[in-house]
Amino acid sequence: MIYLDYAATAPMRECALDAMNDVMRHAWGNPSSIHEEGARAKAVLEDARERIAAILGCRPSEFLFTSGGTESDSTALLSAAEAGRRAGHRHIVTSAIEHHAVLRPLEKLAKNGFDVTELRPDGDGMISTEAVRDAIRQDTCLVSVMTANNETGVLQPVGEIGELCRARGIPFHTDAVQTAGHLPTLPAEIGCDTLAVSAHKFGGPRGAGFLYVRRGAPLTPLLLGGNQERGRRAGTENVAAIAGMTAALEESVHAMQGEAERLTVLRDRLAAGLLAIPRSVLNGHPAKRLPNNVNVSFEGVEGEPLILLLDERGIRASSGAACSAGALEPSHVLTAMGQPPELAVGSLRLTLGPDTDEAAVDLTVEAVRDVVRRLRSQSPDWQAKCEGKKAFLIEN
Ligand SMILES: *Cc1c(COP(=O)(O)O)cnc(C)c1O
Repeated sequence: MIYLDYAATAPMRECALDAMNDVMRHAWGNPSSIHEEGARAKAVLEDARERIAAILGCRPSEFLFTSGGTESDSTALLSAAEAGRRAGHRHIVTSAIEHHAVLRPLEKLAKNGFDVTELRPDGDGMISTEAVRDAIRQDTCLVSVMTANNETGVLQPVGEIGELCRARGIPFHTDAVQTAGHLPTLPAEIGCDTLAVSAHKFGGPRGAGFLYVRRGAPLTPLLLGGNQERGRRAGTENVAAIAGMTAALEESVHAMQGEAERLTVLRDRLAAGLLAIPRSVLNGHPAKRLPNNVNVSFEGVEGEPLILLLDERGIRASSGAACSAGALEPSHVLTAMGQPPELAVGSLRLTLGPDTDEAAVDLTVEAVRDVVRRLRSQSPDWQAKCEGKKAFLIEN
């Protein structure tokens, strides 16, 4: 089996499994209990908090543990909107290529009286700082732009956007789920007020994450109840998952530089192999993208059958297009980049990880070439189109 869907989720790192196992066996108490079992769990929790703060370069009080990227995004966005509403500021700037964990809460805010500006990326999938600058108004209460897109891997100029927002005094949220543990992701360097991270994208468990909240930034809790996380996120802490996430993040960050260099070479080899297939296009900027992301569309090929045929051959891939209600929905990211729907339904996203090697890349290129040829040979539309072109060429 060749797993090339690391952007969807990564297999658990051994160190994370060990850390979780250890906590579930030996530190299973409720960290809020004052007896010894509780104290043991609390010690694990506070140790994790310090280690993550060291990685982020922030204070241990500057982030809260959550159930993952989605909760972190929702908390940050709804909280910033609440602060805006109180100040009479109801304008939000975001990008059309955000993850649904950002787009859906903003859609809800739009229904509740907020004015949301969704910026389009350029053809390479990048949001420009100038576009953010032009969109900001007197009543803007939030800017939200992701560090890297989850479909194309394109890196966004969040450092510049952060600087701009700081200068204008506007809260800036960034969904950093795709860069945390993969590329340097330091809140102080980005200049953001809030930053969302999910554990399962770097080898931690699903259902764990955290939200960085700059000291002094207002935070309205999403979940109400007990006084956990200094009253900012109620609910008994998932100490085992937090310990697993911390171990996985430390290991990822430790290996980050070398791994980024290694994956960049493999990524470019994979992209070159796939682009040698006739009538294929690379989606997103060729270089300003995550070291582990290749996203290609093949004319005349739909994403879903492509993924299923690759799966039969033991290759796990993904498509930006999703089948909803029986119809293939083109990817909102590729559509926003200006891709025609016939290409936006046919994207293949391959995301590499620690287990990926050159042999896996070469086998994948072979398999994709075969599968694309097969799907095209079965498509009457594609055949007609090719014959039309041939006839056209002969006539001229
Ligand atoms: C996976 C992902 C999320 C959601 O994180 P969960 O922990 O699965 O809720 C949010 N944003 C981006 C960019 C992602 O890739």
